[in-house]
Amino acid sequence: MEQLWEQALNCLKTQLSTENFETWLEPVQFGGIEGDSFVLRIPNQFFAEWIAAHYLDLIVDTLQSQAGDARVPSKVRWELDETLRERAQAARESTPPPPSVRAPRATPRAPVSADLNPKYRFKNFVVGPANQLAHAASVACGSDPGRRYNPLFIYGGVGLGKTHLVNAIGHAILQRNPRARILYLSAERFTNEFIWSLQNHQINTFRERYRAQCDVLLMDDIQFLAGREQTQEEFFHTFNALYHSDRQIVMTSDVYPQQIPEMQERLISRFQSGMVADVQAPELDTRIAILQTKAESEGIELPSEVALFLAQAVRSNVRELEGTLLRIAVKAELLGLPIDLELAKDTLRTMVPNQDTAMTVDDIQRIACGYFGIRLADLKSRRRHRAVSFPRMIAMYVCRQRLGTSYPELGERFGGKDHTTVISAVRKIGSLVEAQDERVLGAVDAIERKLGI
Ligand code: ADP
Ligand code: MG
Repeated sequence: MEQLWEQALNCLKTQLSTENFETWLEPVQFGGIEGDSFVLRIPNQFFAEWIAAHYLDLIVDTLQSQAGDARVPSKVRWELDETLRERAQAARESTPPPPSVRAPRATPRAPVSADLNPKYRFKNFVVGPANQLAHAASVACGSDPGRRYNPLFIYGGVGLGKTHLVNAIGHAILQRNPRARILYLSAERFTNEFIWSLQNHQINTFRERYRAQCDVLLMDDIQFLAGREQTQEEFFHTFNALYHSDRQIVMTSDVYPQQIPEMQERLISRFQSGMVADVQAPELDTRIAILQTKAESEGIELPSEVALFLAQAVRSNVRELEGTLLRIAVKAELLGLPIDLELAKDTLRTMVPNQDTAMTVDDIQRIACGYFGIRLADLKSRRRHRAVSFPRMIAMYVCRQRLGTSYPELGERFGGKDHTTVISAVRKIGSLVEAQDERVLGAVDAIERKLGI
């Protein structure tokens, strides 16, 4: 039985973010099966509520599939285990808790701190028309924080340099003022720390850290707060405290402030009250320059015709562009070959959309329906049953990824849905893809192959 739980944990680990896994599942112990229930031991009642609200279906599904037997219980009985609490407490005191729930600690004083990524600097950020404004505003924040562009809100699609820019702002500020108290973190971590603080009666320390002891707040992926009312409330007060004492706030998001679903109006209006700048997919020249910069920093010899070829082939996402370059470099090294057009073409053949086929939303919808065996009318209907909602989300995701169709247009094409519905569908599938969910990967892959990608 212990083994079953171990196996299930291994499987769950691949499906959740590390932060959430360490925070919520690692402390839980398996207490065997009693009657028609799994027994799960938890350190306190809060765990029961949180897990029940967020992970219960997933846990039960996983246990059942690991056991390979549908007769395995589908209910959970919670058992409070004081020793778990003591052990968790002891562990917290001897080692810091996971980063996601790290207790407020002494204010960093050294320029190396602030949790910034040392790789992301202005000097290795390539500027082009698609990111010029965001870059200029970031540089201004870096040299004169809290003055001209406050707050700064940077938005744009995945892999287009938002995280890079925010980190670069932090480095630039620290360079001028090594004593600046900078907090860089994702909105997900803010949320987790907030919950941890409530649960451990540390809310005053939390507020002290984010409101009083912070000169610059760099908050990545603010869209994570969507639908999280209590955290939004807390962030609202954090924002005001910082803003009213002229401290710099920088936020990033994957969409424009008003397009973040389920976000309080008053927060949206604050997000827009300073400077809002977007990052777009870079155009060809910038993509070539990015490849060259990256190659140089990695010590890769990149002939210009290969750079041109790659920049033409991978267009929408800088992360993908860099990933392709690295893949080719690794392949060249493994096979002892030079990096040339032939190798580049060979590597890309397996991974890049065929530029000759002009596919459309209709094609993707048709193929998705074929793959899942449902009717087009159902795909576009309002029905929420999983048998149609899952294919619909997958089709929306593929359209967005491969065609870059706007969210409102996709909403329209999928039977008149709100753009926020499309955004959350695309995001949900995106995170399942990242988590390597087999069902999702299988479906996306099958549809893309049919499309000739
Ligand atoms: P986002 O946060 O928008 O999803 P990231 O900042 O994580 O994107 O960028 C993804 C990768 O692409 C990073 O490795 C980053 O350094 C690189 N990158 C993005 N834009 C640029 C650019 N203009 N110049 C150099 N590297 C870039
Ligand atoms: Mg990012």
